Amino acid sequence: MIIDELVGFSNFYGSNEELVLAGGGNTSAKDGDIMYIKGSGTRLCDITADGFVKMSRSKIAEIFTKTYPDNDKEREALSLKDLMDAKLPGQENKRPSVETTLHSLFPQRFVLHLHPAMVNGITCAKNGKEWAQKLFGEDVLWIDACKPGYTLAKICCDTLKEYKNKNTKDADIVLLQNHGIFIADDTVEGLGDKLYSVMAKIRAEINDESDFSVGEFDGDKAQEIFNEISEVFGEDSVVTFEPSAVSLEFAEDDDSISKVYKPFNPDQVVYCKPYPVYVQNKGEIADKVNQYKTANGFLPKIIFVKACGIYGVDYSQKGSETAVALFNDAMKIAVFAESFGGGKPMSDELTDFIVNWEAESYRSKQ
Ligand SMILES: [Zn+2]
Repeated sequence: MIIDELVGFSNFYGSNEELVLAGGGNTSAKDGDIMYIKGSGTRLCDITADGFVKMSRSKIAEIFTKTYPDNDKEREALSLKDLMDAKLPGQENKRPSVETTLHSLFPQRFVLHLHPAMVNGITCAKNGKEWAQKLFGEDVLWIDACKPGYTLAKICCDTLKEYKNKNTKDADIVLLQNHGIFIADDTVEGLGDKLYSVMAKIRAEINDESDFSVGEFDGDKAQEIFNEISEVFGEDSVVTFEPSAVSLEFAEDDDSISKVYKPFNPDQVVYCKPYPVYVQNKGEIADKVNQYKTANGFLPKIIFVKACGIYGVDYSQKGSETAVALFNDAMKIAVFAESFGGGKPMSDELTDFIVNWEAESYRSKQ
């Protein structure tokens, strides 16, 4: 059964933290007019057949024949409604992935979409596009960063058509700037071959990797900072502290923290909030957190402290650990990107869009 194959490769790739974390990434399979797509808020690592939403491909295709308003909120609301209307009977209580329309563009039977840190070392690098061209040529299609949802799907729709006209074949590997990779193939085996060949070529160019072993940190300061954070966030808060060598390096000064200050990809915005708080000395947490809250309208989830490392803070164990896991991923990306001209975060405009995007706030609540 096609759904068994879909569940199988979703769990397989979704369980590898080098490839995707938390609720990130998504997969799909096509069978005639039916497309099975990962439900929003599910996780690839443990998704079951029930986690997929059955959609009508022909109804999704109608979305690309329509014209939507330029206004972000109106466009996203209307295209989301059309997407929800493309669900098949019996799927009413499910919500398809935010990337469903994009999956529908590939004619291939299976689509695998992941956010591997190593691949994002290229997609989030200053010279990423040039490197992708150099390493893969026409085998890989590069899509510049843009607003997710309808805008991204529409750009991909046009770009995939152009690619097909030029290369007389369908694109099957797509790199999305500041986001991740899409792979399409008629067989499950083919997905893996393509993914690993892309990753092997990138790996061969990487000069440095992040060190997540415990670094030399100031234990007394770390404990006092831990207490300060718990006091500021209240007794319901859960703090995850990791004095990793790489986090200590980034926490060294304003210059080093600037390399990971702005988010590289949407997942980071969803699970870590867009920016960390950076503190050099004891006694500064309360002021810095309040300034952050005033500027952004929400609390931070990541606090970097010089000579201590990274603290994740949230109101559940899972939320706190996930924030640290996603920020560790960001540090990996920043280090990998050094091999491709240095890191290039998302634009402020794109970050603000994602912060306010209803689809992502739905995902983060799941
Ligand atoms: Zn994605």
